[in-house]
Amino acid sequence: MNLVDEEDKIYDPRDTTLTFVDSPDDLDPLPSEEDDSLRAQMSCGHAVTLESLTGWCRSLLDQGNYVFKCPALKDGERCNAIWPYREVRRLAALTAEEIEYFEENIARLAAMEFCDFKACPGCKTFLERKDLTNLCVQCTVCTSDKKVAFQFCWQCFKPWKGRGPRSDRCDNEGCINQDLELLRTCKTTILSQVQGVGPCPSIRACPTCGQKTEHDTTGCKNVICTRCQVEFCFVCLKRTRVCLQTSSHFNPCSEGIAPRQTSIPVWHRK
Ligand SMILES: [Zn+2]
Ligand SMILES: [Zn+2]
Ligand SMILES: [Zn+2]
Ligand SMILES: [Zn+2]
Ligand SMILES: [Zn+2]
Repeated sequence: MNLVDEEDKIYDPRDTTLTFVDSPDDLDPLPSEEDDSLRAQMSCGHAVTLESLTGWCRSLLDQGNYVFKCPALKDGERCNAIWPYREVRRLAALTAEEIEYFEENIARLAAMEFCDFKACPGCKTFLERKDLTNLCVQCTVCTSDKKVAFQFCWQCFKPWKGRGPRSDRCDNEGCINQDLELLRTCKTTILSQVQGVGPCPSIRACPTCGQKTEHDTTGCKNVICTRCQVEFCFVCLKRTRVCLQTSSHFNPCSEGIAPRQTSIPVWHRK
């Protein structure tokens, strides 16, 4: 995909949320004399320009790294401070196209790395669940020990009961998804700075990966998921980019408030 020319981006010198510094760009080992672009200070204290920060983080992403670490040298060693994506996005002033590119790639890379490990209730061996849509898991250790297939429920840890595969529960009594229960029973909340939007559930499951997410009720209606880093609208549950096509940050969504979720989105590894 083509990204817009970074030359188009400039810092607003009046932006009081950024700290501008006079020190040279720490990401550029050979800063040119005539380069007078503004430098902003990252949380680790190092100075960056829009171009150097965008370029460095994009090169990390293109090499399969979605954790953004500061490459600046400090006493001959790399700083390696981790910059949250939220910070990179703000200080690199990512454009809409860049945000889409970053978030799609971060989510894809994080999903590949995400592993679902739990201990088998029979033998306590740690197992990885490969199919995130199926709660019925077979332990290979127990199965070869006992010479019969041992399947248990990833949710209630009892021996599997009923038909499978299944993603919501097994037939054992009391097998419930705690997250779903939370989504069903959580209080409602008001996003005080969003005009004209009534109460909405205080807990949402991230539409991309299913992570439980809350809104701190300040600022715009969008939140960034802490697990997959994809930003979504807390009100209508669409990706921010999609919601903003027919709405704006502090106004109601075109399709109103999404009802309480009754299933948890499953993170698909692409
Ligand atoms: Zn640093
Ligand atoms: Zn086992
Ligand atoms: Zn169960
Ligand atoms: Zn997520
Ligand atoms: Zn929305």
